[in-house]
Order: sequence, then C-alpha cells, then structure tokens
Amino acid sequence: MTPAVRFQKVSRHFGAVRAVDGVDLDVASGEFFAMLGPSGSGKTTCLRLIAGFEQPTAGSIEIFGERAEGVPPYRRNVNTVFQDYALFPHLNILDNVAYGLMVKGISKTDRYKEAEKALELVKLPGYGSRKPSQLSGGQRQRVALARALVNKPKVLLLDEPLGALDLKLREQMQEELKSLQRALGITFVFVTHDQGEALSMADRVAVFNNGGIVQQGTPQEIYRRPKTRFVADFVGSSNLLSPDLMASLGGERRWASLRPEAVRVASEGAEAVVENVSFLGAGTRLAVELGSARLHVMLPAGADVPDVGTPIRLSWNSQDIHYMDDAA
Ligand code: ATP
Repeated sequence: MTPAVRFQKVSRHFGAVRAVDGVDLDVASGEFFAMLGPSGSGKTTCLRLIAGFEQPTAGSIEIFGERAEGVPPYRRNVNTVFQDYALFPHLNILDNVAYGLMVKGISKTDRYKEAEKALELVKLPGYGSRKPSQLSGGQRQRVALARALVNKPKVLLLDEPLGALDLKLREQMQEELKSLQRALGITFVFVTHDQGEALSMADRVAVFNNGGIVQQGTPQEIYRRPKTRFVADFVGSSNLLSPDLMASLGGERRWASLRPEAVRVASEGAEAVVENVSFLGAGTRLAVELGSARLHVMLPAGADVPDVGTPIRLSWNSQDIHYMDDAA
C-alpha cells in the first residue's frame, strides 16, 4: 500500500545547523506514528516538512504517493495541531472550529453543521458559543483538535499537543486521542519528547537524535530491543551493562541492556548489594551494586523486599540480555 508519508534521504539544513539530516521514513496509511526524541533532535522540523511549512534542502517527500515539493501547505491534505493550540481569542469556539471551512468558502449553515459534529467528536457538544478564555486547558486542546478534524485531513500532524496539560489530563487525552484515531482511521503523526506517551499511543515509533532517526519500530521492539545505548537510555529505564561487566558475567565483551523488570532476586546468581529501595505503588524498585555497576531491579507488588545493605543474588534469562550495536 502507498505510504501516507515517505521521506527519502530528506535533509533540512539551516546554514551549518543540520536540523534534519538524511532521514528515511515511511508512515503507513491509517497508522499512529510517533516521532520521539530529545529537544533539538529534529522532530518538529520533520513535521513542518510534512506540513509544507519548510522545504527540504535535499531528498524527496511524498504524501500518498505524490511529490510534495512545491505543493503549498493548504493543498496537502494535511492539518497540524500545535502545542499552543493557536486558537483565535476573539472568535467563539464554533467560529474557531469552522474557520478552515470559511476560508474554503463553505456556506455558514454547512460549516456550522460540520463544526458542531467535530465538537461532538471531541466531547465538547454545546460549547460553541464560549470564547477560548472560558475553557480549561484540556478543553482548548480538544477545540484545537476539532478545528483540525473539521477539514477531514488524511494526515493529522500533532506537535506535542498534550505538553501543556497536567499529568492526569494528559493520560486521559492520550487514551482519547488513540480511540479517536482508531475510530476515524486518519493517519496521525505525533511529535513528543515523552517516551511513555510515544510507547502507549503509537503503532510505530521513530526515535530521533541529532537530526537523524536512530531506530524505528513498534513500541515493543523499541523497548525490548533498543539498538543503541542512546535508545536504551532514552526509552524506558534500562540498565546499561558495560563490555567489561558483560565479560565478567560470562557474556560477550559488548554493551548490553537489561530491563529492570527482567531481573529477579534469586537464591543463585550474580552477587549484588542493595543500595536503595523505592516503593512505587505498582512495584518496588531496588538500586543495587553489582561489581562496580549500579543496576535497577523492578520487583512486582507482593514480592519479598530485601533491606538496604543486604547482599542478594540476581538472576535473569539470557534472552533478556540485549546487545547494542554501539562500538565498544
Ligand atoms: P523540540 O522538542 O525542542 O521542539 P525538536 O526535536 O523538535 O526539538 P527542531 O525544532 O526540529 O527539534 O530543531 C532541530 C534543530 O534545528 C535545532 O538545533 C534547532 O535549533 C534548529 N533549527 C530549527 N529551526 C531552525 C531555523 N529556522 N533556523 C535555524 N535553526 C533552526
């Protein structure tokens, strides 16, 4: 099937700054795709390249099989939801949502009907006559979403759309966005620096660093089989085991990652000393010293918790040791 978005060796340099550098990317039609990475890694520039607010300095971009270069943003069948929502403060909610249809010359009756439908979709029916200032942050976020959805884009670009919300609301909106995307079947491309958000919502994730994609895959692949130390460290809370430690444990002399929840306290295994115990509700996290390394161990709720300072033994399944591609 033709991908919704295809990047081939796409770069966007600003003078000496390589904001995006040689990115290859396929976003499948109907997919929830997350671009994940630290600040300055090039995610937003990629999104702006898809939207048409930026032009590549090299490479090619296709949207549903058509070359996008030279096609202005409003002709791309793509809409963006920005982090600051960019609502018009002087217009009421209905007019904010209907704005894109007004620009397209749709009649007042029709555009209000569509705007009402979009407000229902984001669970804000009846809020049309309010002004943006009379809504909560979460409600404004929903209006921004309705305003993009009313244009029935084939691709919806979301740039940290939940960044301004508090944790609880953000978690609620993550679930709502995911259900909405599933129900509408629209391709979502979502930018975030929050690994939990990317893993919980996306069908596939691209991890960015320094203007390039370091790994792409399903959340499970990225989490369980990170290719590099950067990915292991950025996604989830991995234990990174040095080549020396791996060799001393009888493994290969290479960097490896081991997830805290894959480590067990056992009667036999590597000797370690408990340095810290943190109760996290759903489980208990131990910080332990293993040789000269400090590891985290995630114990499930109900497990016996050793005291700080006690020697313990650790074991894990060999398939949970995952070697990195990094040169030593
Ligand atoms: P954040 O999460 O902070 O938004 P990001 O991963 O989205 O970061 P980008 O905004 O894409 O990163 O920026 C990538 C790099 O390109 C940064 O170093 C940034 O300073 C630079 N950059 C982006 N836009 C421009 C521009 N118009 N002129 C010069 N440099 C730019």
